[in-house]
Amino acid sequence: MVNVLVINAGSSSVKYQLINMEDESVIAKGLVERIGMEGSALTHTPANGEKFKLEKPMNNHGEAIEEVIKALVDKDHGVIEDLSGIKAIGHRVLHGGERFTQPTIVDDEVLDGIRDYIELGPLHNPANIKGIETCMELMPGIPNVAVFDTAFHQTMPDYAYLYAIPYHVYEDHKVRKYGFHGTSHRYISQTVIETLGAENAKRIITCHLGNGSSIAAVENGKCVDTTMGLSPLEGLVMGTRSGDIDAAAVPYLMKKLGMDADETLNYLNKKSGVLGISGVSSDFRDLEAAAAEGNKMAQTALNMFNYRIRKYIGAYAAAMGGVDVIAFAGGIGENDMQVRKACMEGLEFLGVEIDDEKNAVRGKNAVISTDNSKVKVMVVPTNEEVMIARETAGLCL
Ligand code: ADP
Repeated sequence: MVNVLVINAGSSSVKYQLINMEDESVIAKGLVERIGMEGSALTHTPANGEKFKLEKPMNNHGEAIEEVIKALVDKDHGVIEDLSGIKAIGHRVLHGGERFTQPTIVDDEVLDGIRDYIELGPLHNPANIKGIETCMELMPGIPNVAVFDTAFHQTMPDYAYLYAIPYHVYEDHKVRKYGFHGTSHRYISQTVIETLGAENAKRIITCHLGNGSSIAAVENGKCVDTTMGLSPLEGLVMGTRSGDIDAAAVPYLMKKLGMDADETLNYLNKKSGVLGISGVSSDFRDLEAAAAEGNKMAQTALNMFNYRIRKYIGAYAAAMGGVDVIAFAGGIGENDMQVRKACMEGLEFLGVEIDDEKNAVRGKNAVISTDNSKVKVMVVPTNEEVMIARETAGLCL
């Protein structure tokens, strides 16, 4: 078996999947939660076995990944005999700035490069680095590949990624639009192209709608624009993020609510979005239940979410001179037929026609537009782990 281990290290968690590249099947997956906190625990799920849970103090990413390795090779619930069963390790890394336009085999110089972007990805890059360092230490001899969330968007033209502020700020401080969820947008657009053929999918709009949401315009397989910016805050209305907001509102908010810069950023990232508007929840199942019971602000939050998606789809169709395919992914995009229908309403002028029966689908690859629809609308369950594994295998195997 030719296996790739995929690691997604967050600030207090590590998610992992061991993937057999012969058929891209998941041999085992798991999650370590609450690293460095009370109640840290590992949940390990082998494909052909019982779920196993280990509760013990894990003080740092090193200790967490040590337990992941033990679980993978364990006599009872393990899936490989020893570490020779892992050929390469792929890491999700949030920010690769302008330097990393491709997945990259990690050495000390690359690690330094990822460190250079800590300022741009302060919540994620340090954890991603810890994950890589730990794997290098605990599994010497197995190559590590960094797969960047920003890389897919590096093909955007300058008029799309620049902010209209003095140019030297871009030159000196690299302030520009980067975009995120790139691995997902790449996976979704590649799957659409594989499914329909490149000729029929020259202009794709990929909608990744989850806790964080973003849209990308993909022309001939390359990203030409995306909704997230310097950070994941820009663009769509999200679970707890405001998305687009007038920059002048920020100092005004600080003054009126007596918050400093960090508090304001936290307010816009964690307390805003559909949660902030509705006061109900950031979860669309709760919002829809509340709206159905007559909660007006839950309905307003949903309307805002759907409207901004529709607006960006229109904008990206204009940016590409039309659109051939619109694809939905992410927890909301894959499961929520109401949202899919609502954000397609009014797009008939573009040639979008949704088939309500076909739209009643959850979590699987499907075309949900009518046979006559000029624009194909699809659901494409995203799979960032498989994409990371493919990129890693492409470089190492
Ligand atoms: P993340 O961005 O953290 O990866 P996901 O893509 O898994 O998140 O999306 C999680 C969100 O998807 C939930 O907060 C919820 O709003 C939404 N969601 C999940 N399942 C459903 C469902 N059956 N119906 C509607 N929304 C759902």
